[in-house]
Amino acid sequence: MTSTKPETPEEEIEIMLSNLAIGALWEPQGHGLTYMKIGERDIELMVQHQTSEAAQSRIRFGILMAKAGWQVKEDGVQIVPPQNLTPQQQYMSEQIKRQEIAQATWKCQTPECGCLLSAFALEKAEWIFVGQSKIEDDGGQEQEVEVWAVNVICPVCDTTIAMEPLEYALIAGDDLMMSYRTPAAQLEALDRPTIIKCIDEQFTEIIITGSFCPFSGALLPPHVRGAVVKFKELESEEE
Ligand SMILES: [Zn+2]
Repeated sequence: MTSTKPETPEEEIEIMLSNLAIGALWEPQGHGLTYMKIGERDIELMVQHQTSEAAQSRIRFGILMAKAGWQVKEDGVQIVPPQNLTPQQQYMSEQIKRQEIAQATWKCQTPECGCLLSAFALEKAEWIFVGQSKIEDDGGQEQEVEVWAVNVICPVCDTTIAMEPLEYALIAGDDLMMSYRTPAAQLEALDRPTIIKCIDEQFTEIIITGSFCPFSGALLPPHVRGAVVKFKELESEEE
């Protein structure tokens, strides 16, 4: 996190883009544009809504990025009709689009490997607690936050890649984010209808999670906490 306040739109865009990881997407809100960082100083426009507002924003952002010293590639842009969606549907549709781009483009970082991350055994990902970090919230107060990484292993070159949790969530999808394995148990988060059904049927292998796995004592990643989960204890030889 950077604490320097940007002074000009160029500086703002410079900070924004230089903080992105290569392969990460940037969608300035309300502009109908999706960019991806494809190199140290390279940005590619992936998707543009078919509206005059998006066309104008595309020109404006293109000029700003060039001024800030970025190469902008625009020749492969996909023009899509804007949809009349509720904010919830809009969010879902953008999430699906982000996921499609990530699945089709994110690759193993080993030079010359190029295996797509979506071809990795993402269900075998390992969540690693990296440590605490201090960030400044909007009110200028320091907050302690936990930093996690998700390790995935390339099936081609065996390199371990540490992903940001949000990037992992994007490429892995909701189903994988609903399940979590600790050294002693498999946990499956339940949606509301399933919770109701399980309680009505007096199914007992359900717990509400806190910060730790009650079977192994392992620290749970934030997205697994405070959830109603179905558990299955693992045999010790399965570790
Ligand atoms: Zn690889």
